Amino acid sequence: MALDAGLAVALDAGLAVALDAALAARLSAPVWRIGAPSGEFRRIPRIRCIAFAIVATALAAPAARAQSADVAALQVALRAHGLYAATIDGVNGPLTSAGVRRFQARRGLAVDGVAGPATRRALGRRGRPRLGTRVLSAGASGWDVAGLQFLLERHGFPSGPVDGSLGPRTDGALRRFQSWAGLAADGLAGPATLSRLRGPPPTSPLIFALPVSAPVGDGFGPRGNSFHGGVDFPVAAGTRIAAAGRGCVSFAGWSSGGFGKLVVIEHRLGMTSWYGHLSAIAVHRATCVVAGTPIGRAGSTGRSTGPHLHFETRLRGAAVAPRF
Ligand SMILES: [Zn+2]
Repeated sequence: MALDAGLAVALDAGLAVALDAALAARLSAPVWRIGAPSGEFRRIPRIRCIAFAIVATALAAPAARAQSADVAALQVALRAHGLYAATIDGVNGPLTSAGVRRFQARRGLAVDGVAGPATRRALGRRGRPRLGTRVLSAGASGWDVAGLQFLLERHGFPSGPVDGSLGPRTDGALRRFQSWAGLAADGLAGPATLSRLRGPPPTSPLIFALPVSAPVGDGFGPRGNSFHGGVDFPVAAGTRIAAAGRGCVSFAGWSSGGFGKLVVIEHRLGMTSWYGHLSAIAVHRATCVVAGTPIGRAGSTGRSTGPHLHFETRLRGAAVAPRF
């Protein structure tokens, strides 16, 4: 159920892949737990880290292979032709190949469900050029721009709709990513930027406590033709929301970014946690908290279609999958 500014749409990934990705995200590189009720940081024993690393490697490999910037670009092109209405998830699933087959039949091409050179040529400007064959900057459009947008959101820098057009929002996300990655923030996506974007996305070095005891609704990841940078907890308006770990409040007030009443807590290791769409805020800037400290109440303020908590975690500004 999509509660904040999005539609509930099908993922083209199989359930097994989604579970692999979720497990891999949970299991990879666990180092610090900050959600202990005492609020103390706790080192997880080395032996568990090694065991986690082995399992994570086994699980991460198929999940990483399953997502591709090229498939995302293909989904964007099919979507523009009205042949793909599911999520731009970069996974070549049955809905994507069905869209390709319908496009091929429509254009009198061999119907094999594979987007080879002839099919990409028939997609026109949305079918080319391949990612990496030119340096991208503001104003560019095409297959490679859609791939770039997908890679940016996977790395925690969503730029609005993945639509194959490098407008101001994508330009801003590109420059923020470059700065985050220690590259010159010049808005030029060339080999250095692409090589960083083709690596694994960042993960949270901290494990958090649940900010509210409720099941998770919408998860972290691609949603529709956009990206959900956090997780949603559908709860009644007025439900008490707690800090998810030890830290100090760096923002408490109205957000211009669609989060409505928002609290942001700064933790250690470059992490921040975000609590959006609140109906009431119980802390001030510079208030220091531990896991479980009440920080406000759930609501539906900002860009929201119903009462819920939008909870987000960021690593030096990059949205990362929350770990509990
Ligand atoms: Zn949300």
